[in-house]
Amino acid sequence: MNILNYSQISSPTRECVVCFVEQPEREFYPTYSEKCRHTRRYICNKCTSYSVKTILDSAISSRVACPEINCLVKWNSDEIRRVLLATENNLLLRKYDAYLIKRFFENQFNFFWCAHECGSGQYDYRRLTRNWKITCSQCKRDTCAFHRVKWHEGMTCEQYDRLYPSSDTRTRKWIKKNSKKCPRCQCNIEKDGGCDHITCQKCRYEFCWDCLIDYSSFKNYANVEHKINCRNHPIGKFVLPMRFLKFRR
Ligand SMILES: [Zn+2]
Ligand SMILES: [Zn+2]
Ligand SMILES: [Zn+2]
Ligand SMILES: [Zn+2]
Ligand SMILES: [Zn+2]
Ligand SMILES: [Zn+2]
Repeated sequence: MNILNYSQISSPTRECVVCFVEQPEREFYPTYSEKCRHTRRYICNKCTSYSVKTILDSAISSRVACPEINCLVKWNSDEIRRVLLATENNLLLRKYDAYLIKRFFENQFNFFWCAHECGSGQYDYRRLTRNWKITCSQCKRDTCAFHRVKWHEGMTCEQYDRLYPSSDTRTRKWIKKNSKKCPRCQCNIEKDGGCDHITCQKCRYEFCWDCLIDYSSFKNYANVEHKINCRNHPIGKFVLPMRFLKFRR
């Protein structure tokens, strides 16, 4: 006669491959990510949460992978939160949420943390230029918006770069975005705000920053003489949004 053990039917168990504790099957559900190809989990909730905790403790980051053997899926923030919620790791969950909020703001181009680490930050929608100082609304101390460091008193951003060459990458990126070659003499010209009518300091060539057209060719200095896709052409204004669409694709 085949006598079935009642407890085996009602609550099947599984042994966790990490802690070797025999546990009810529900400790191995759910699969935290839909990207995970495995239908079963062999690491219990507690050990999964512990592995996430170890990663987050070393450096709170978004690079958390599923610990299951042969699974290399990187979990997104929702999936990481689900693991922490399952084991009610509230302290770590709060820390992780604070990290997500911080990261959200850091990805906002116009948001600046106070470099004095008073915990305050603020938006500033002016066009980013060098030597632009932001005064913290909370602690009233200054931050360099360009370098995102404590304001370098008595030093311009250019001098700061010379002193700390590592900050130079930021400058190079900025120059790439804000400089062009003179169409005639090929020297580099930097534009720091101001209007689009550029005069090359080296060869005195006058041209439009956006469409590079030669201003001396203008007969009546009318805006229709710009190239049609230039932002200074009366129609260019309407063509501009389409230009962005083309970039996105
Ligand atoms: Zn375990
Ligand atoms: Zn997985
Ligand atoms: Zn501050
Ligand atoms: Zn600076
Ligand atoms: Zn020139
Ligand atoms: Zn133009």
